[in-house]
Amino acid sequence: SNYYTISEYPTGTPSQDVFKLKQQDLPALADGEVRIRNRWLSVDPYMRGRMSGVTTYIEPFELEAPLEGAAVGEVIESGDDRFKVGDKVSHMGGWRDVAQLPADGVTALPDLDVPEQAYLGVLGMPGMTAWTGLNAIAEMQQGDNVLVSAASGAVGSLAVQLAKAKGGVVVGLAGSQKKRDWLESQGVIAVDYRDKDAATLSEDLAKACPDGFDVYYENVGGVCLEAALNNLRVGARIAVCGMISRYNDEGPAPGPANLAMILIRRARMQGFIVFEHWDNYPAFLKDVGPKVAAGEIDYQETVREGLEATPEAFLDLFKGANTGKMLVRLG
Ligand code: NDP
Repeated sequence: SNYYTISEYPTGTPSQDVFKLKQQDLPALADGEVRIRNRWLSVDPYMRGRMSGVTTYIEPFELEAPLEGAAVGEVIESGDDRFKVGDKVSHMGGWRDVAQLPADGVTALPDLDVPEQAYLGVLGMPGMTAWTGLNAIAEMQQGDNVLVSAASGAVGSLAVQLAKAKGGVVVGLAGSQKKRDWLESQGVIAVDYRDKDAATLSEDLAKACPDGFDVYYENVGGVCLEAALNNLRVGARIAVCGMISRYNDEGPAPGPANLAMILIRRARMQGFIVFEHWDNYPAFLKDVGPKVAAGEIDYQETVREGLEATPEAFLDLFKGANTGKMLVRLG
């Protein structure tokens, strides 16, 4: 098996040579294990946190061990009754071409007419995150005005479509014209946040949605959060899903200067971790799965080819190189 590992925890923006490609001979399959040839690997912003060497809501990656991440593949050998050769599965043994894992950590792909890699994006963890953040955390109501940051990414692109389906004004922040064109194609008002200070971005948001936002779906932090706080309606809810603008910071950064807007607008701000809501995954799949299968949800993918492309694909998330879900396809 070929796999990526790290030998040290990077500080700041990691360089590509932090990631080492290694090879190991897998031991004979034990009872209760399955061996999987991976077809698709996911790279996700949260992985940066696991590279920091600190336990947050999740353990850091183990140095020198294969990195972990979501992957989809095909069973090539099974020591467990629940799986047979040829089964399509998802699991957390990513960053490698062949994974050998306890069957308890392996899930058969649901039986829906969608491409298998959809279970890493729109129907996987990122999609479940968008659905959970909007419904369970922000408690979005019919007709609410919604602002989403990183709005054309894996999470954001589903969040804006789910929000749009409930009727209010939906505004999305995105860093390139191509992304904003896609947002506009979904009926979303697209706003560029790049190289803007909070005052300028606040004005742009006020122009885009003069009545203000009932919901802010937060993926970014920093200037985007500060501008959003200035444009809340009374009783607004902020679902804090992520703060990607901060993940490569080397030290503490100043908070929003206008946190008092939470008080002034009697708003609520709540963080969440999608894995703690996983009991609701079947409900998510029941709600969103058929819409994806019917082509009613427009999900984008940015696909890189080959295991060796994985580190750059991951690092490119922080440069905004992806539209929709960033994926690596293995031959
Ligand atoms: P995306 O597909 O959205 O990719 C990341 C995007 O973030 C980039 O394309 C870029 O878009 C934007 N971005 C990158 N750097 C910056 C920056 N410095 N400032 C502003 N925007 C930036 O990733 P995901 O959809 O997988 O994740 C989105 C967010 O959701 C992340 O914060 C992630 O950590 C969080 N998340 C949280 C989960 C939870 O359980 N709470 C679960 C899953 C994800 P652009 O070009 O528009 O700037």
